[in-house]
Amino acid sequence: MWIDTHCHLDAPEFSNSLPNIISAAKEKNVQAILLPAVKAADCQHVRELASQYGHAIPGLVYTLGIHPLYTNQAHEEDIALLEEQITQSLSDPRFVGIGEIGLDYFVEGLDPHKQEYFFHAQLDLAQHFNLPVILHVRRSQDAILKALRRRKIFGGIAHAFNGSFQQAEQFIELGFKLGFGGAATYERALQIRRLLVELPIDCIVTETDSPDIPPAWLKQEGIAFNEPAFVVRIVKELAAIRGISDSEFASAVWCNAMQVLPRWSALCAGNPNFTLAS
Ligand SMILES: [Zn+2]
Repeated sequence: MWIDTHCHLDAPEFSNSLPNIISAAKEKNVQAILLPAVKAADCQHVRELASQYGHAIPGLVYTLGIHPLYTNQAHEEDIALLEEQITQSLSDPRFVGIGEIGLDYFVEGLDPHKQEYFFHAQLDLAQHFNLPVILHVRRSQDAILKALRRRKIFGGIAHAFNGSFQQAEQFIELGFKLGFGGAATYERALQIRRLLVELPIDCIVTETDSPDIPPAWLKQEGIAFNEPAFVVRIVKELAAIRGISDSEFASAVWCNAMQVLPRWSALCAGNPNFTLAS
């Protein structure tokens, strides 16, 4: 069975085809998907999606947070709204952490101070609730590491990781797993591939980031955007790059994700349909 640790099922690209997207993932035996929210106003929607499609994907879970690319349109009161939504979600076994939060110093037109305000406020919430976080780290590795070190954060996932070995090691030390996906399927992605091959297997998780980060074959095959069913082919390609079997890689990734997201692990442990054999 397969796991997609980062998938924006609530994206507008999926709005007309979500039942089909879910069926395709189910058909491929994708049994667990993490859906991170991007805006405080979306919390309710994300929670409803997880509940609605949880019968098809038993390990469908969500996190709540304000994504750095949405901080321009966020307001200070969104933090209070988010806190309220988190409190409400604590009784929901499909709610597993805070995210997607972080800093993006690559995309132009974002106010760095506003980004930092929301990132730090959400790290405070993560610390307060002792919940893991899903991080968006883009040209901001050191600033994020510094912010994490100033608090006691449970850990989580640094998604779509693209830093140096040294930075990778620091995230791992702070209790984070590193997310790899479509970006590693490009032959020219030398640094990401090196990380994928040389980092310890127990710090790697896999993801699609769908509908974004298209794997290399998408354009060649005329497919408009990425979707969670593609995690199977992505994981197979990543396992081949790493030089291990698909099943060994898939079970390692499953365990790694569950280790940093205990509420996800509890949800899966309580469901007899999950077996670690893929
Ligand atoms: Zn994302």
